[in-house]
Amino acid sequence: MLDVLRYFERVTRPVDPLTKEMMSNRWSELPDKVRTRSQAIGRHGVGCEGTHGVFPRCNFACSPCYHSASANRVRTDGEHTISEVAKQMSFLERVRGPRAHAQLIGGEVSLLEPEDHARAIQVMRSHGREPMSMTHGDFSYEYLLRFAVDEEGKRRFKRVSFAAHFDTTMVGRKGMRVPEREIDLYEHRREFAKMFQRLKKEHGVRYFLAHNMTVTPSNVGQIKDVLKDCQSSGYNMFSFQPAAFIGNEKRWKEDYREFSGDEVWRQIENAIGTHLTYSMVQVGDVRCNRTAWGYFVGDRWYSVFDEDDPDDELARDAFYSYLGGVHFNAPPLLLALRLTRVILTNPTIVRVGLAWLVRRVKKAGGLSSIVGKKIVPMTFVMHSFMDASQVMPAWELLERGVWSEDPEILATQERLKACSYAMAHPEMNRVVPACVQHSVFDPQENVVLESLLPLPKRVVKTGVLHTDEAEARGA
Ligand code: SF4
Repeated sequence: MLDVLRYFERVTRPVDPLTKEMMSNRWSELPDKVRTRSQAIGRHGVGCEGTHGVFPRCNFACSPCYHSASANRVRTDGEHTISEVAKQMSFLERVRGPRAHAQLIGGEVSLLEPEDHARAIQVMRSHGREPMSMTHGDFSYEYLLRFAVDEEGKRRFKRVSFAAHFDTTMVGRKGMRVPEREIDLYEHRREFAKMFQRLKKEHGVRYFLAHNMTVTPSNVGQIKDVLKDCQSSGYNMFSFQPAAFIGNEKRWKEDYREFSGDEVWRQIENAIGTHLTYSMVQVGDVRCNRTAWGYFVGDRWYSVFDEDDPDDELARDAFYSYLGGVHFNAPPLLLALRLTRVILTNPTIVRVGLAWLVRRVKKAGGLSSIVGKKIVPMTFVMHSFMDASQVMPAWELLERGVWSEDPEILATQERLKACSYAMAHPEMNRVVPACVQHSVFDPQENVVLESLLPLPKRVVKTGVLHTDEAEARGA
């Protein structure tokens, strides 16, 4: 009996003690300038994670492409994927704690057999990761069905998460091989989301969809076309990545430094028709990430916390203090028990939460303005990868424990230290920032994988033709 009570006490703790310890470690590693009141790393989680070297190949030819030139010479192999994902996730669980969001990323995930894709997701979940599959979105409903539902018609997952990349930097999509304008991809974006709506209707599988766009001088002015009707298109996150000089040099086609992050953010704000607050919740270094958490009421977007409202600042601080580190994707009953414990030990959270809710209703124009309107959670993100030419020297100095005297390299070092996107190297007993993975480790890693997983001759030929054709078309 005592053992049962002890177990109950342990599993209903609002935050796992190991999670607390890992968050505190992460906080202490952050550079001073990002340890702000709004910083989420170390106060709500340890940051995001991603896989590498598990399926490097892709059947598109994007410009830019962050993968090294040799990535497409590596065969996609289900067994290799599962075993590498297991090693990386097990390591992350050990060194970063029992819970985190993690991206299943290569390469193109849908080149995996759907059953292998599903197994990789299950392995990630078994290590406490909340996985998201990163894809170009060019697969069929049949693929999605085989991924989400087993041979006996039983769903494998109650909920799935995908991030789909759609933009004019990509070459190879069926029915839109070389898109010229972002608006030309509008139907493809919607059709992708519709597959998940159908999956939910037919098999009860819930979903979270993010939309990714690489931003270049050629398409920065078309962000409004990407965000056309975004509140009703099925996505709950739009993420913009200003292009960087990383990966395959043959795919660098423009001066990606012609515009600033401010310009990208302005374009998103113009499209949404309102200011997008990103100072209230910071994820790592603001030069890497801007995140505006909010929701649409009808066609108007509202921020979860307003930056000009001191009460919202207090509500944000209360969230971090009392709910920071809570695993909100836990099974509903377990989550309810954990939240009950939070309330019993910190009853003030109820007052703060209700006051916050009342303010949200008022901001939206009162109850009468909300009733009958659709409320859609929507987050806007800008993630700015860094150029390999900056990352390589910055990392080399960091490895020697030296801070650069060059202001640009120093800024890169600070950003790497505050990185919110980690990749695991169990063989070296360490995690590295994704920028470092792509700039420093990917090229050598893919050369090793090329001999470990060579392409069959037929595919080598197809791959070469595919890439040459795309490059000849100016991709
Ligand atoms: S260091 Fe690189 S990978 Fe890490 S958050 Fe910054 S831009 Fe992203």
